[in-house]
Amino acid sequence: MAKIFLDEDASLDILKDKVIGVIGYGNQGRAQALNLRDSRLNVLVGNIRDYAWDIAISDGFTVKGIDEVSRESDIIMILIPDEVAPEVFDKDILPYLSKGKVIDFASGYNITYGFIKPPEGVDVILVAPRMIGKGVRDLFTQGNGYPVMVGVEQDASGNGWDYALALSKGIGAFLPGGCAVESSFYEETLVDLFSEHSWAGAMLYLLQTCYEALVEEGVSPEVAILELYASGELGEIGHSIAQLGLWNQLKLHSRTSQYGHMTWGKKYITEETKKIMKEAIEEIKDGRFAKEWGLEQVMGLPSFNMLWKLRLSHPVCKEEDKLYKTLGRR
Ligand code: NDP
Repeated sequence: MAKIFLDEDASLDILKDKVIGVIGYGNQGRAQALNLRDSRLNVLVGNIRDYAWDIAISDGFTVKGIDEVSRESDIIMILIPDEVAPEVFDKDILPYLSKGKVIDFASGYNITYGFIKPPEGVDVILVAPRMIGKGVRDLFTQGNGYPVMVGVEQDASGNGWDYALALSKGIGAFLPGGCAVESSFYEETLVDLFSEHSWAGAMLYLLQTCYEALVEEGVSPEVAILELYASGELGEIGHSIAQLGLWNQLKLHSRTSQYGHMTWGKKYITEETKKIMKEAIEEIKDGRFAKEWGLEQVMGLPSFNMLWKLRLSHPVCKEEDKLYKTLGRR
C-alpha cells in the first residue's frame, strides 16, 4: 500500500540554510517559486532571457541565467517543459551538479526514459503536483493544499525523502485538503501518460461525437454546446467526484439522472475499451510512445500540426467561436 504523507511527516528545517534554484518560470515554476518564498525559503529563479524572465523580475525575484542559478543553488528544481529539459540539463545544469546537490522534477518522464542521466552523488527526487500551476498558487493563497506524488530515484545523501517531503511542504501541498503520496518516477510517468491517453483524450472525442449526434438530430449547435460543456456543469461534476467520490457524487443528481447514468453509461464501455487501455499502457511501459513523440519533435512536428489543423476544422469549433463571442468569452 502506498504511504500517504501529511503535514506532520515533513519539516522545512532541511531547506532552511539552502539556496533553492527554480529553473523555469512558467505554469509550475512561478507558482512553486512564489509558494516557496512565502514559506520563507531562499529562492533564486533561473530562466532564459525571455518573457518569463521579466515576470519573475516584476514578482521581485533575483533572476539569473540557468547555468548561474545551477552553480549557486543547493537544490535545483527543473520546471521547464519536458521536451526541452534534456538539452538544457546537459548544457546548463549538469556541469554544476557537484556531490551533495539535489535535483527535483515535477514529472517523471525524462528520468524514466533515460533522456536525462543525472551523475552519481546527487539526490534525484520527484515532487509532482496533481494540480495545474495556477491551482498550486491559488490554493496556497487560500490556505488550502493539493496532492503531490513524491519519489526518490537516487538517494546519494540518504536524505532524499526528507528533501522531497520538505519541498512538498514548502510549495503548500500539506495545507488542509492536500497530501503527498509515495510513488516513483516510473509510476508517475505511467499514470500521467495513461490519463492523457485514456479518459482525458477520449472525453474530448466523446463530447465531439455527442455534439455531432445531437446536431444531426436537429438540436441547435448553441444548445448542444451549452448542454455538453460550455455551461461549466462538467467542471462541477469533476469537482464533486473529487470531493464525494466517483459514484457517490451521483447522489446529487435527480433519480431520473441517476438511473440514466447507470443504465446507459455502461453501454459505451465494451471489452474492446479495456483492451485499448492495456495497449496504451504497453506503449507507455515499453517506451514506444516516448520514442514516437521524440521522433515527431525531431521531424518538426508534422503530425502534431496536422492533428491540430484537423481538430480545429471540426464544425463544433466554428459554432463554439460564435457562441463564445456572444457570451463575451472571446
Ligand atoms: P511551462 O511550459 O509553463 O514552462 C515554461 C518555462 O520554461 C518558462 O519559464 C519558459 O521561459 C521556459 N522555457 C521554455 N523553453 C525553454 C528552453 N528551450 N530553454 C530554457 N527554458 C525554456 O512548463 P510547465 O510549468 O507546464 O511544466 C514544467 C514541469 O512541470 C514539466 O516537467 C511538467 O511536466 C510539470 N508539470 C506541469 C503541470 C502543469 O500544470 N502545467 C502539472 C504538473 C507537472 P519563457 O516563457 O521565458 O520562454
